[in-house]
Amino acid sequence: MFREGTKDGQRGNIYFLTLTAPSFGSPHHNRVERDGKAVPCHANPKVEKCIHGSSLVCGKIHDQKDDDLGSPLCTQCFDYENAVLWNACSAKLWHVTIIQIRRAIAKKLNLTEAKFRKFVKVEYVKVAEMQARCLVHFHVLLRVDLIADNPEIEKALSDTTLISNAILSGVKDSRFNPKLSDFKSGYKVEFAWGDQIKVRPVDSDELPKLARYLSKYVTKSIADSYGMPRRISNIATVLSSSAPAHVKKMIQTAWKLGDEPALKVFKLPKWAHEFGFGGQVVTKSHQFPMSFGELRQNRKDWAIRNRSASTLLPDKEFFKEVKSIVHRGWKFIGDAIIVASLGRKRAQMRRDAREARDYEAMERNGEFGSDESGDVQDE
Ligand SMILES: [Zn+2]
Ligand SMILES: [Zn+2]
Repeated sequence: MFREGTKDGQRGNIYFLTLTAPSFGSPHHNRVERDGKAVPCHANPKVEKCIHGSSLVCGKIHDQKDDDLGSPLCTQCFDYENAVLWNACSAKLWHVTIIQIRRAIAKKLNLTEAKFRKFVKVEYVKVAEMQARCLVHFHVLLRVDLIADNPEIEKALSDTTLISNAILSGVKDSRFNPKLSDFKSGYKVEFAWGDQIKVRPVDSDELPKLARYLSKYVTKSIADSYGMPRRISNIATVLSSSAPAHVKKMIQTAWKLGDEPALKVFKLPKWAHEFGFGGQVVTKSHQFPMSFGELRQNRKDWAIRNRSASTLLPDKEFFKEVKSIVHRGWKFIGDAIIVASLGRKRAQMRRDAREARDYEAMERNGEFGSDESGDVQDE
């Protein structure tokens, strides 16, 4: 589906963006160097102890299953509240970002916004993934297309370095302010992206590989990466579970912040199992040539195809279980595919409509700055 969406009538280039959250405290990580060699976590930090006396040294090479992976070196240093709020604001931050990207490209091409809209179309599909540190990050395929003949603009658009730089500056300039003036001091007034932003052009040879890479995320879900598989009704159950301490603390923070009147808008207890995120795994701009109906069917087919090899349940049982999930909420722990493709299906259209309304309201309130009438298409 990604491949289809990137082939159709293209007169420009495709860019691949990775957008990550800022740092809310140094976590245990498993970085791999370019040559594929794993780097020890924090073997030689500049400072050996934090102000709380916790050691900032860790010479381990963590594997994917290691509970320490993603958890902070010092839980007191880690800013749990803002980490949860960042997750809660990340989808809105993206809304601001896509507008900033369009503006930045227009500026690079020396075009007014009206002229830009006449000649250039910027469309995207974005996939969310939960990192081990319990912060969401996004992969975005961005199409920048010429839509009306203009040799000069066409030439500029073919300069992928120019456009990559414009996209990058648009991303870096993006801020979202949730306007929480009545929430206690210490919260971040504005949310932005972290330093690990990547923007690069994708050539057509690479697209099939990239499409496969993104599909991998699509068939996962937030819950399948590091979140909990279902909504939480009883926080005590979570706290007494065997989940890693960092995961529990993120959930507990989201749960607790739900009591703050200023934060009610984020419905944090409802999304505590996703550490406040509550957004969709896949979103796209209105005109990105890819249908969600097809995409969901694709995910379902993938789930069914890939399930048979690993599951102990016979097919008949599987379909019975799928049915029960549809009727009674999410049932299989860790079954991200079903959670993603079926559990969310019914809510999808309602949520799409709600997001569109939110977005339009933000625009009316001038939260995106001056005249942006041309961008109501987003999601
Ligand atoms: Zn470590
Ligand atoms: Zn500390």
